[in-house]
Amino acid sequence: MTAWTKEIGLALLLLLAISVIGGLTGFFIPLLFLLIISLLIWQVVQINRFERWISKGGRGKYPKAKGIWEDIYYHVYLIKKSEKKRKKKLGKIIDQFRKSTDALPDAAVVLGKEDEIEWANTAAKNVLGLQPSDRGQRIPNLIRFPIFVRYLKSGLFNESITMPSPTNSNITLTVKVVSYGAGLRLLLAQDVTQLRKMEQMRKDFVANVSHELRTPLTVLKGYLETLQELDEPLSPLLSHSFQQMHEQTERMQYLVDDLLLLSNLETQPKKTHCVDIPALLSKICKETENLNNSAGRIELTLETNTHIYGDEQELRSAFSNLLGNALKYSPKESKVQVRWQQTPVNLVLDVIDKGEGIAESEIPRITERFYRIDIKRANKVSGTGLGLAIVKHVLLRHDARLVVTSELYKGSTFSCCFPSERAC
Ligand code: ADP
Repeated sequence: MTAWTKEIGLALLLLLAISVIGGLTGFFIPLLFLLIISLLIWQVVQINRFERWISKGGRGKYPKAKGIWEDIYYHVYLIKKSEKKRKKKLGKIIDQFRKSTDALPDAAVVLGKEDEIEWANTAAKNVLGLQPSDRGQRIPNLIRFPIFVRYLKSGLFNESITMPSPTNSNITLTVKVVSYGAGLRLLLAQDVTQLRKMEQMRKDFVANVSHELRTPLTVLKGYLETLQELDEPLSPLLSHSFQQMHEQTERMQYLVDDLLLLSNLETQPKKTHCVDIPALLSKICKETENLNNSAGRIELTLETNTHIYGDEQELRSAFSNLLGNALKYSPKESKVQVRWQQTPVNLVLDVIDKGEGIAESEIPRITERFYRIDIKRANKVSGTGLGLAIVKHVLLRHDARLVVTSELYKGSTFSCCFPSERAC
């Protein structure tokens, strides 16, 4: 029997008793009234007891009660008990989260809608100089580097930024913001000083080695040319050896030149002026045809006369590499199309060939340094494996991207897509 049926049963029993007594004595109405008033007073007393217990937080065992009230006390007690358990569990999770974030070497800061600091881990103190008392303050008021303030204001958090640490200018940080929840953002700052130093050392090493190798190579090549041009006839073995040595020194020279160019692209400041792309392309097409003995193979289409802001020397290197590749990796009699066009969002240079093509799985790798595809070519094609790495770097410095579409044994299209804002 449930508490409710018991309660209703009791009320009906009392009503029956009153009906019998009322019928015998003739006081049914006053007795009924008395019963209703007594039941009401009893309920008010119970409500009062319940209110006093719950207002004290419903702590400990609940007071003794009868009927439906015992059930109500019991259910509330159960809810309270499970809530207590949940709170304990949550507290444990938060404690673990705090401990793990405090153990992180990277700074983590939770920012509110107005860039105010809601929470920061221990590393934020060392890396960003934030104190516990800074909670609630707007972070751009505490870290005032223009690059950082601009980054936060922009709301574009796909990329990270690099800036010095506010506590020590010798420390370099990369800062990234991740949006989550309703208007909340997590700011992460990582100390990349060592990484940057190593990267700089690598760049310096490559630049120095390439530079130092240049002179001995030129001397070697000069002597080899002199020996080959001697009046005295050379034995076939010597003649073949000199030819091989000459070819290899030339290859090494190309390598050194490309490495130097790459390291310049990584280290030199950008120079920008308005470049006449149609004129540049016409020049490059002529030069490349002459250089590769490919007269008449290149078809240049200028669909737009737009010029762009950039570095002419760098653009020349990139375009020449693409054109050189298109000629190298396609049959001698096939045409190569070069097209300069304007699309609704980009300015695009397409270099289209009908050559051997590139397998889809290889496309993501061809811009890596020294990566060369191992296709069984009838004629071995010479190259350094650095050409497309140069193209990629040049385009990066011009806010442009390289799009490659290719089909094996049908041909390839290399598209350099410049943002329209580069037009001048
Ligand atoms: P490489 O000096 O070998 O030409 P690149 O960096 O210019 O070096 O190119 C990397 C590789 O990408 C090349 O070895 C070649 O296999 C492939 N490749 C580049 N351009 C083309 C093209 N137009 N058609 C087919 N393969 C190409």
